[in-house]
Amino acid sequence: MKLENVWQTKQKIFIYRLLAGRSNVFLVKNDQVEILIDSSWKLARPRLKRALTKLNYSQEKSVCVLFLTHAHFDHAENAAWVQNEYHPHVIIHQSECDFLKAGRNSKIAGSNKFIRRLFPSLIQNWLNSTYRYPITKPEITFTERLELQDFGMDATILHTPGHTQGSSSLIINDEIAIVGDAMHGVFPNTAFPPFAVDNDQLIASWGKLLKTRCRLFLPSHGNALQRERIEQEYLSLQ
Ligand SMILES: [Zn+2]
Repeated sequence: MKLENVWQTKQKIFIYRLLAGRSNVFLVKNDQVEILIDSSWKLARPRLKRALTKLNYSQEKSVCVLFLTHAHFDHAENAAWVQNEYHPHVIIHQSECDFLKAGRNSKIAGSNKFIRRLFPSLIQNWLNSTYRYPITKPEITFTERLELQDFGMDATILHTPGHTQGSSSLIINDEIAIVGDAMHGVFPNTAFPPFAVDNDQLIASWGKLLKTRCRLFLPSHGNALQRERIEQEYLSLQ
């Protein structure tokens, strides 16, 4: 695996970016537990399968987890397949749970006027009301935070809403965070995601993420974001 797709914390937790491009998927591992973060959309399944086989997902004697940052199809469409094939503990925020169980997108909305104009309400309504993906029954839900020490890893799942009501992030060793769509790593001038149901809530979630000591934020779309860049943009958003 290319070095640009692997990170390591001081306590030797490894983070692999399995799928890079349209929707990143990460695998976080130490010697006791492995956590797959998101599952991408259906078209990416063959690539996801190859990557999971290469990294022995669920084949070793460790606890196996699938954490979904939220219930949008480009994150959750392969979740049912992963659940059937690898039998992980599936974790998602309480507010996203019913959407996942129904195979429906949690609400999608543009975060700025430009996106709202580019993204006609017809497509938005179709994604919000009609689009379906295979249903997944999560095993563990949470509201504000979920500590993963009991699973065998110094990591915490934090509720970081704004992109959707139940969007959440994984904080690893208080050093690296996987933030789903709470941040966006595609455009050079902004890390604010193009889609959010509540911009103020999202800005508050950035504050929450910056209260951790994380030096690096890994978004679901695009490249890793350094803490300094997020600090600067956070100040400009106040
Ligand atoms: Zn999303």
